[in-house]
Amino acid sequence: MLALAPLAGAALLGVLTWSFLEYVIHRWLGHDRRFRGNLFGTEHLRHHVEGDYFAPTHKKVVFATAATAVMGVPAVLLAGVLGAAWLVGFVGFYAAYEILHRREHTHAGIGRYGRWARRHHFHHHFVDGRSNHGVTSPLWDLAFGTYRVPGVIPVPSRLCMAWLRDPSTGDVRDEHAARYVLRTTARA
Ligand SMILES: [Zn+2]
Ligand SMILES: [Zn+2]
Repeated sequence: MLALAPLAGAALLGVLTWSFLEYVIHRWLGHDRRFRGNLFGTEHLRHHVEGDYFAPTHKKVVFATAATAVMGVPAVLLAGVLGAAWLVGFVGFYAAYEILHRREHTHAGIGRYGRWARRHHFHHHFVDGRSNHGVTSPLWDLAFGTYRVPGVIPVPSRLCMAWLRDPSTGDVRDEHAARYVLRTTARA
């Protein structure tokens, strides 16, 4: 019978592998001028400019399937069931990242982690694009020295997330007013 601990360890390693790639892809392919024009960077720039733009799902599925095949097949061949557990952790955490990132833009955060993840990410979007590249955790920002604790985040009115704006006032909802402000000129 297979012991659970090695399987859990392999799955955790898969989670950490995605977490590291999430940072590397976002920081260097997304924001480093030396790699400008790459497919991810082009899509990511549009995400920053438009705010509510996300790369089409079919492109992500193609990329994710190719990456899974390239890394998953050798992992299973080399390490058998441990390789499969690693792959489950890797793909599962990648899916969690995709869902979390989209929900950061579309829904207000629930709980401490949800609120932290949004502030961490919107500091990156609206204050300093050279910091806070991690989406699911601060781990690699801390490791590479790009972690910044957000202050009050100025959100350009044009890019304001629907969950942040109170439709009756056009301004930031009261419950978020201590953490976000709209960067806007005089209101009509
Ligand atoms: Zn984003
Ligand atoms: Zn970015």
